[in-house]
Amino acid sequence: FLEISGLRKRFGALEILKGIDLELEKGGFLVLVGPSGCGKSTLLNTIAGLEAITEGDISVDGRSISDLHPSKRDIAMVFQSYALYPNMTVAGNISFGMEMRGVPADERKAAIDKVAKVLQIGHLLDRKPSQLSGGQRQRVAMGRALVRDPKLFLFDEPLSNLDAKLRVDMRIEIKRLHQATGKTIVYVTHDQIEAMTLATKIAVMKDGEVQQFGTPAEIYNNPANMFVADFMGSPA
Ligand code: ATP
Ligand code: MG
Repeated sequence: FLEISGLRKRFGALEILKGIDLELEKGGFLVLVGPSGCGKSTLLNTIAGLEAITEGDISVDGRSISDLHPSKRDIAMVFQSYALYPNMTVAGNISFGMEMRGVPADERKAAIDKVAKVLQIGHLLDRKPSQLSGGQRQRVAMGRALVRDPKLFLFDEPLSNLDAKLRVDMRIEIKRLHQATGKTIVYVTHDQIEAMTLATKIAVMKDGEVQQFGTPAEIYNNPANMFVADFMGSPA
């Protein structure tokens, strides 16, 4: 469903992604892990079209998207910072993209009510982002992505700003959401437990390369090298 082949990304003389090959089945949940600076966000940004690729190809549903404008890719991204509009209410934040696309008001209202129910934010719709907790903001950011019903979801460390308890709650929520919607997801995290519990496939990255790609069990039980074993905390 998602195919990435020979993907390279250079910033000037610096090669940040050094030939990435990955594939993900429809409805799959791919988690990208790896140390800070290894290129996880850059890889997500190239899939979303926010960064042009230097070499290689990305295709979704059998069609190359490498040359498509981000708005034409049918991909929704949730950023680590949430990137909510501070002056709009929760409902406004969720509605904004639909307004831009000319979705009629009654359809917008129905779509907002539906995601608000799934994410349990119905009671927050009239608040501004500044009046929300981190976890609530995170849900709103997710709601904004969900109303688009895209082919592919990209999440860049959506839980990294939350405290430990909320992280666990939200992790369970994301898992439930994935199971309920059957959406295809690419998800970046630093957290090995998050990776192990959410993923159908994990790619362990280092210095712009994929060190190992496989199911959580394969990677944990059969690490390809010392780096992967160390990073995933596999038994020695
Ligand atoms: P983290 O876990 O800290 O978020 P990451 O794996 O997401 O790290 P990236 O943000 O993809 O890492 O960055 C990978 C490398 O690319 C870093 O060395 C970074 O400095 C570099 N980089 C990212 N964006 C640019 C840019 N626009 N110009 C030059 N270098 C960049
Ligand atoms: Mg990053």
